[in-house]
Amino acid sequence: MSGVRTVSVVGSTGSIGTQAIEVLAGERERFRVVALAAGSSVGALAEQARALGPEVVAVADSRRVAELRDAAPRGTEVLCGDEGLDVVAGMADVVLNAAVGFAGLRVTLGALQAGRRLALANKESLIAGGPLVARSKSVPGAEIVPIDSEHCAVHQCLRTASRGSADVSRIVLTASGGPFRGRSRDELACVSVEDALAHPTWQMGPKITVDSSTLMNKGLEVLEARELFDLRMDQIEVVVHPQSIVHSFVELIDGATIAQLSLPDMRLPIGYALMYPERLATPFGSIDFSELRRLEIEPVDRKVFGCVDLAYEAGRLGGAAPCWLSGANEVAVAAFLARRVPWTAIEQVVSETMDSYEPVELNELADVLDADAAARRHAEMIVAAKERAA
Ligand code: MG
Repeated sequence: MSGVRTVSVVGSTGSIGTQAIEVLAGERERFRVVALAAGSSVGALAEQARALGPEVVAVADSRRVAELRDAAPRGTEVLCGDEGLDVVAGMADVVLNAAVGFAGLRVTLGALQAGRRLALANKESLIAGGPLVARSKSVPGAEIVPIDSEHCAVHQCLRTASRGSADVSRIVLTASGGPFRGRSRDELACVSVEDALAHPTWQMGPKITVDSSTLMNKGLEVLEARELFDLRMDQIEVVVHPQSIVHSFVELIDGATIAQLSLPDMRLPIGYALMYPERLATPFGSIDFSELRRLEIEPVDRKVFGCVDLAYEAGRLGGAAPCWLSGANEVAVAAFLARRVPWTAIEQVVSETMDSYEPVELNELADVLDADAAARRHAEMIVAAKERAA
């Protein structure tokens, strides 16, 4: 890639999307935004289009397309639905996928199949569609640069290893521990949506913030790391690091451990994924080591945060099990955010859904869509039963 890089941003109105727009708007001589896409927030999307002048804007929810046509600047092509996302996924040097949840799968596959760089913030697509994504990565030009901070850290650390993943003995993903670190199961029986959304170190969207409170986010990240770096499940560990300064460790085969440290600011991984292999010259904060005092590392309390082991189990099962885990979790988190079930039900819904999983291979997109739908059906039935029982 040389000269000005073209960029598509999918999920541009969400938490990662708006931070990406901020980074891109500050680097106009390096990047040209050619397409923006959002799930349904057409007002915010049109406003971004007026500021950045992309060729295309797309809204995933086709019912909102008339509204977007009215609001978008003249001369901007307006698209919608799956077809719109397919166009956006194939039309830039860098496709930044910050869609929320399984909905990001089409964009992940579309970008790779078009031979683009995928700057990936949507871990669910990688977890659900693992075998398909792995195949698409071999398309000439296709590459994934992760935006998830832990995986971005691993990606940076791996640059010190001449043989990449082959030089890795293990990686250790750090977790902040979320808002409920140190609590017992009893203490967590009646936490509210507001409690779960009060993350101590990161400002993020509601889905991932709830995932951080259950530590399912870390479980999903283990599966994400396996797909990204071609590692075995037993090479991936998780620890709690409440300061969120060390974003992960990579232990190499000679015993040397490399870590990446920075303040918890997602603009750094966003800029890294856009600029790689170069670096943005914009510093996103600087660690004051005289103030830092301590970098604590502690084990995950797996008795309280059972979602981590559910993810490991899904990874060991392979096939469509990670897809089921992620789909069931999306249903459970949505039910919790809608105040239909308590926080403790999230782990139960995922666990009980996984009890119904029968081994399935994922060979094509239809298999992934079927697996996701099956998992959601089971999870929704379990949510409804819990609602009735409450
Ligand atoms: Mg992360």
